[in-house]
Amino acid sequence: MKLHFDVGLCVRAKSKFSICEKCVYAAPQSITMQENLPSFKVSTGVEAAACVGACPTEALSLSDFSATEFFFTFLESKVRLISPKFNVPCISVLSVEHLISLALASDEPVVLDLASYDAGSHVLEQIEARIEEANFVLSSFSDKQLETNLDEDISVEKSESSEEATRRDFLASASIKGALKHKKAFDDAVDAEELQLFEIGDDVISKIKDKQLPNKRKILFTTLKRAGVPDVFEVLPEEEVSFTSQKFVDESCTNCQICYRICPTGALSTDKKFSLINFDAMLCVKCHLCHDVCEPDAIHLQPSYEIKEFFEPTQRTLATFDIKRCNECGNPFTYKGGVLECPRCMLEEDEAMFLHQNAKRMEKALEEKDEDKK
Ligand code: SF4
Ligand code: SF4
Ligand code: SF4
Repeated sequence: MKLHFDVGLCVRAKSKFSICEKCVYAAPQSITMQENLPSFKVSTGVEAAACVGACPTEALSLSDFSATEFFFTFLESKVRLISPKFNVPCISVLSVEHLISLALASDEPVVLDLASYDAGSHVLEQIEARIEEANFVLSSFSDKQLETNLDEDISVEKSESSEEATRRDFLASASIKGALKHKKAFDDAVDAEELQLFEIGDDVISKIKDKQLPNKRKILFTTLKRAGVPDVFEVLPEEEVSFTSQKFVDESCTNCQICYRICPTGALSTDKKFSLINFDAMLCVKCHLCHDVCEPDAIHLQPSYEIKEFFEPTQRTLATFDIKRCNECGNPFTYKGGVLECPRCMLEEDEAMFLHQNAKRMEKALEEKDEDKK
């Protein structure tokens, strides 16, 4: 099977409360949720590649095609065409971040060949939505835009962007040649009909706890450094940016510690005393996990995204807590006022009080029964 799933990177494996379904939405015919994890029809066709570009944490990949490698080899070549006919198994393996990065890093306009896709197909819709988002984000700080091609007869020569560009340059790229081979391998995926189920073994538990920034975000970081800093920083509507977010935490937060412990990229973090919640927007991949695990629903998306974060990333403190030692057990806890007792000691006291009152009630009932007998 050419579609590879790294369960340790999937946010669903990190918490049963995760509602991430980006891969299912991207490739509904090939992926379903089984026991809270994505499962794949082994007979997936190339349309399943859309889930690779959709996954926020890069849990999905093609065994024989690396979008990261493609990024660098594409820029090295003179060709500025991205096409399933030549150099990618499917354009949908590229995420919005890849598309923005490719447009930014290329001196010439990058052209995406959409002619091979059926009009109205789900995969084409996915690709077009990503191009639209990438161009929208790009337009807020750069004059670069991705272009699309619908001409079925497009050739590598036609797409060359500079005079010295040659087909030889194109074919000289080992990984592009490899991509042709791998596209075939991907298309020829095994034709059994059963679903491929994944389980979480001990070996992936430690990996699940790791913080890992996806390569596509590292690429975006790098290319943004090449883009000139705009004079004015725009603010984009939150719903128009699918791959990162800004957040705030409201007063209902109990400092349960789950969100910053579970955040897969380290975008949410704390200090040694667990006395605050810090947030780095440029590390956030908008996987929604922190929202899904927050019981009081205290963490929220800001309605807008400030492009300034791309150029001047800042760490913001979303909440601070008064950490004190409990008078009963001596353990540190988040003090919210009132008696200096941690929630666990308070709960134990409540339970002890309840048991005591219950015992008293039973004692009284027995006494009354004895009185009646007399
Ligand atoms: S999109 Fe990625 S993180 Fe989300 S459920 Fe699918 S594999 Fe897991
Ligand atoms: S925001 Fe929610 S999940 Fe995070 S510490 Fe506060 S209550 Fe817990
Ligand atoms: S801050 Fe929340 S949405 Fe962003 S990467 Fe961390 S868990 Fe995912």
